[in-house]
Amino acid sequence: MDTNVLANLLFPHVTLTPEDMEQRFPTRNLPEGAVISRMAPSPTGFVHLGNLVQGLTSERMCHQSGGLLFLRVEDTDAKREVPGAVQTLIEGLRHYNINFDEGATIDGDAGNYGPYRQRQRVEIYHVYAKQLVLQGEAYPCFCTEEELADIHARQEAEKANFGYFGKWAVWRDRSIEEIKAELDKGTPYVLRFRSTGSIENKIKFTDLIKGNLELTENDIDHVLLKSDGIPTYHFAHAVDDHLMRTTHVVRGDEWLPTLPFHLQLFRSLGFKPPKYLHIGPLMKMDGESKRKLSKRKDPELALTYYRAAGFPVQSVYEYLMTVLNSNFEDWRRANPDADVDAFKFSHKKMNPAGSLFDEAKLRDVSKNVISRMSADRVYDEVCAFAKDYDLDLYRHLTAAPDYSKAILAIGRGGKKPRKDFAVWTDVKPYLDFFFDDWFQITDTYPENFAKSDIKAALEKFKATYDPADDSNLWFDKIKAVADELGFASDMKAYRENPTAFGGSVADVSMFLRVAVTGRLNSPDMYAVMQILGKDRVMARIDAMLATL
Ligand code: GLU
Repeated sequence: MDTNVLANLLFPHVTLTPEDMEQRFPTRNLPEGAVISRMAPSPTGFVHLGNLVQGLTSERMCHQSGGLLFLRVEDTDAKREVPGAVQTLIEGLRHYNINFDEGATIDGDAGNYGPYRQRQRVEIYHVYAKQLVLQGEAYPCFCTEEELADIHARQEAEKANFGYFGKWAVWRDRSIEEIKAELDKGTPYVLRFRSTGSIENKIKFTDLIKGNLELTENDIDHVLLKSDGIPTYHFAHAVDDHLMRTTHVVRGDEWLPTLPFHLQLFRSLGFKPPKYLHIGPLMKMDGESKRKLSKRKDPELALTYYRAAGFPVQSVYEYLMTVLNSNFEDWRRANPDADVDAFKFSHKKMNPAGSLFDEAKLRDVSKNVISRMSADRVYDEVCAFAKDYDLDLYRHLTAAPDYSKAILAIGRGGKKPRKDFAVWTDVKPYLDFFFDDWFQITDTYPENFAKSDIKAALEKFKATYDPADDSNLWFDKIKAVADELGFASDMKAYRENPTAFGGSVADVSMFLRVAVTGRLNSPDMYAVMQILGKDRVMARIDAMLATL
């Protein structure tokens, strides 16, 4: 067949050539070794942890190498598109410090390699579709849905492999007259790739995460353009990643089975393929077995889950680093105060089989992350969270910023900072007693203490308390109260012979703690009293005395 005739019959409107495209989108002028990668999500409106894992991997590889990251919106499936999805995506990723250097923006494009929305690139795909037809590597197929279903049914009956290939590829070798007759009738058609591969053959391939692989060649005449002229993912992937000069494609390993087809396409189109990194899925333990995180069953798959649950961005980010790079935790232990960007991310440290997602571990990471934050930072982050999710807390904190920061500073900054918070929802129950309108006695004194002892301890403490005392003097005074009551002020002596005493100085502290904070557990009492101030400490002790 004269492929020229066919090419002009199918694409009379296409006058541009692949050379024109090469000129329009020249090789990027970047230093040797610079990684150019992209995120290429479909605008479904659902941003999930997998997007973040992929984005983070690409982002680190690009920005650590002096390259660039761009965003391409894969909107070829109009049915799945949700309005506002691009904005949700860009904002969702920005929240986690993934910023694009180029690509689709909320309402347009930024960069010289666009358009970055695939439906706006149809003209470009058609240049290459025409080229493949000219080369005899693509042809129109006029099969109806029914005919394709019939082929499938016959393959099933014959126990043959499924798909449009070999003898089943009924339009592969039709004459120009037959094709023209259908075109004249206006019969809808798709454009198919003419595969010369065979499933008898294997191809060798090196994936940067999965390592050396042997894959079966593709023998299917896959669709390149759908009947509306819009490309399939595969065809658009080859054309776009070539013209946008992508050096590394980072994507989920669900694309591995179609990789042989993609490599065929790159070859037929005369493009050098990019390097590939196929990321294994995120899994979780379900009872005894592992399974992939599922949109339907696992709310934690959605990125929105983490913000609403009160996880700081940095916690999720560092947790994902822990999951993605096996040496991250050791690095963090050795560099507790370093900026996370100082960590050298490497795809070589990624697990080819995928990663186990574990919320308990995320909470642990988060406790460490928060414990290293300054009180000011915690204050700012809690306020930002509370503004959206707990207005009452927001109002309390912002009405008294210095007071709130002093509370949040307790136990912070030293070698062994307190690890009280995993999520911002832990903050309110931790500090509510500092606010008089929230304060209430929630714990009661253990039954084994005589009320008269508690009462005496509180009264004696009151008589000597001076907020100007430093913490040593403050504690010495409590010890003195213990001695006066016949409680042990020396814990060692108490442990050796507990029955010789009515209790210990720890119990005296507890008497004060319950009166002042309303509970048996609280942050350091010296700091608590300093922050509350003498009047409130006295008032709370008086209120407790009145009940005894
Ligand atoms: N649109 C594809 C997806 O969302 C992109 C895969 C790729 O990164 O190439 O799965």
